[in-house]
Amino acid sequence: MDKIKIKDLEIYANHGLFEEEKTLGQKFLVTVCATLSFRDAAIYKDLDKSIDYGTLAHEIYDFFTKEKEDLLETLAYKLTKFIFDKYKIIEELDVEIKKPWAPINLPLDTASVRCIKKKRDYYIGVGTNMGDRESYIKRAFEEMEKAGLEILDSAKIIETKAWGKTDQADFLNTVVKVRSFEDPLDLLHILQKIEIDLDRVRHEKWGPRTIDLDILLIDREVIYNDELKVPHPYLHEREFVLESLNELVPNYFHPILNKKISDIYAEIKNEN
Ligand code: ATP
Ligand code: CA
Ligand code: CA
Repeated sequence: MDKIKIKDLEIYANHGLFEEEKTLGQKFLVTVCATLSFRDAAIYKDLDKSIDYGTLAHEIYDFFTKEKEDLLETLAYKLTKFIFDKYKIIEELDVEIKKPWAPINLPLDTASVRCIKKKRDYYIGVGTNMGDRESYIKRAFEEMEKAGLEILDSAKIIETKAWGKTDQADFLNTVVKVRSFEDPLDLLHILQKIEIDLDRVRHEKWGPRTIDLDILLIDREVIYNDELKVPHPYLHEREFVLESLNELVPNYFHPILNKKISDIYAEIKNEN
């Protein structure tokens, strides 16, 4: 991968928690390092395959002087999102904002925050068996897009019998592929907020639900902690998940089972 970097772009702006910072303003130094592949631009001289750092510097400047934020954290996050949204070819971003005149009455060089993010492909399992099921799926997709997730693909919606706790209404299920710069745990929290906004109430394990959004796969990553397990621990046991995944990514190699999705799906179908 290649990098394009703008270092310590000096911008005078009015961000900060204190009133004097908002009224008097102060100096900020902004460093942006973008990871992408610019080989095609280099070989074929096509600047659409890279980033014009002059344009980017001006865009950062305009963004920075238009908004007024209390926190450097908010600024760094919003600037990261702004640049990712503008330049789809960027795979990773490292954004640092320094305050050389931070009002803390101690000698220091700069105080700064840094936001480091990379794009990932997430496969999300979607399930519903309460209320207007089609509408809940549609709204879940809309909410994901509103939250900044880019929907790249989705499997057809299938109707399935409840799994695990079988004495409940049939489900509608699908799998959606989204691309996002949000870290895995942050993405889980985004999905959980969407579930709550769409009337999800947890009563009993595997009980009826208006909407369930599970992270099934993230690129080739393996994550195992209290809050998040990826690949989803039941993925290989659930025919309804495998059917949709098989439609989207039959050749995806399960990083723990070391088997292709199409083979895991064929095995479970033979068993049933
Ligand atoms: P299952 O996870 O077996 O499909 P469920 O979807 O009904 O069951 P929930 O009540 O929605 O379970 O989630 C329970 C917990 O699972 C969540 O609080 C979350 O922290 C955790 N969890 C672990 N791994 C994942 C994952 N890959 N996707 C979503 N939630 C996960
Ligand atoms: Ca689930
Ligand atoms: Ca879930």
